[in-house]
Amino acid sequence: MRASTWAAVAAAAITLMTTGCSPKRAGASSPSVAAPVGTARYDVHVDPWFSLHSFAWNAARNASGLKLRSRARIDDVDRALLERPDIAQAFAPLAAAYAPTFDMHPLFSKELYGIGLAASLDRSQLDPALREALEAFMPVYRTHFWPRHEAEALAMKNDLEGALDRRGDRMAAILADSLGSEWGELPIRVDLVPYATRAGAYTSQRRIVIAALDPDMRARPLEMVFHESSHRAPLGDRFEAAAEAALARHGLANERFWHHLLFTASAMAARDVPGDDYVPYPVAVGLAGGESKPWYDALFAVWDRHETLEARADAAAAMVAANEGR
Ligand SMILES: [Zn+2]
Repeated sequence: MRASTWAAVAAAAITLMTTGCSPKRAGASSPSVAAPVGTARYDVHVDPWFSLHSFAWNAARNASGLKLRSRARIDDVDRALLERPDIAQAFAPLAAAYAPTFDMHPLFSKELYGIGLAASLDRSQLDPALREALEAFMPVYRTHFWPRHEAEALAMKNDLEGALDRRGDRMAAILADSLGSEWGELPIRVDLVPYATRAGAYTSQRRIVIAALDPDMRARPLEMVFHESSHRAPLGDRFEAAAEAALARHGLANERFWHHLLFTASAMAARDVPGDDYVPYPVAVGLAGGESKPWYDALFAVWDRHETLEARADAAAAMVAANEGR
């Protein structure tokens, strides 16, 4: 779906809301908010050691020349710095120390996830060679990279906290309502780093990690933090079962349908709060196009006609199946 199409869908939905003839949105347009939480919903960290770890792992694997999946793009400023002979020489031992982890994922690999935690919380837990390489490179990082990485991350933190104060409670209530779930324990730790993965963010029960140098993340701090929060329990507990039941009922298969549901829920909550000129992430970056287009088109079309995640998943799957002639 192109941005202009999205804007038309959003504008139509907002018209329905304001004229009071929408079959759905009543619950969502007046969500029950117990007490304002605002910025206290998240505990946002901008940490030089975790940033160095995230930067070094991404930069080193990108420069490795190996055939690796999902590389995060290193931006032009950082690439130019890494090519300077003095910096390249200082970076080489750190790149070598990270080499055994190039095949790992920062979230799905226990080992690499543990390195990230140790880098930010307790470096004595690190493998001595990696620890030595990180500590040796840190002065170079602080001089040449960190001032910009920190400034960008702090600017994103500022934008996020401003948005949370203005709109966070309302959007949080809409999201929990549409997921038929609740937020669970607050605050949630968020780490803003220069680079995360190619997807720009990842989430565990302990922390949400977001790339502040990713312009698509940077432009949508509220939606992205709420999207990532939907990956956690208990807020996101119902996606997989809702998706599987809907697919089975309509004879379909799609391993990513649960994530399309998740993207749509946070996009729809963002549509209802920041406003009708807002372009949500899956539309902006093209995730709602290509092979996934029939699924997103169906989800966007049925969302306002139903009350629950399960009913929306079912109606979207029914529409996809009908369009496929099943
Ligand atoms: Zn996601």
